[in-house]
Amino acid sequence: MSQRPIDEGLFTGPADAPQLVGSRCDACSEVTFPRQSSCPNCTSSKTEEVLLSRRGTLWTWTVQGFPPPSPPFAGDAENFVPFGVGYIELPEGIRVESRLTENDPSKLEIGMEMELVLEKFAVGEDGDDIMTFAFQPVRS
Ligand SMILES: [Zn+2]
Repeated sequence: MSQRPIDEGLFTGPADAPQLVGSRCDACSEVTFPRQSSCPNCTSSKTEEVLLSRRGTLWTWTVQGFPPPSPPFAGDAENFVPFGVGYIELPEGIRVESRLTENDPSKLEIGMEMELVLEKFAVGEDGDDIMTFAFQPVRS
């Protein structure tokens, strides 16, 4: 059984040290995620791919307690497990919306350090594990 990303170009491997793929504008240095071919800030079309920091801080979060509408939700609604979602503020100055590995509100705190990991999101029709990215609290 193999693994594949939920979407090409969102993140890089290896799986134990993934990085999100964003873009940076040549003209104004605006950083975006996901990657964009033109800058949302100054509309320049000169952007370059950048790999974003693996760590950031939790800016805000909530726990998704029921399956999102399907589509676009592609997970297993029958065996749905509540999951955390939040915004992670990266050193590049952007906030990335992401799943969180933690769904226990007592273990999530605004401002805590978070680290990027990959986790299994669903199983494809071909039996492959479909991987997505998530942030987990950094254990000290
Ligand atoms: Zn720009």
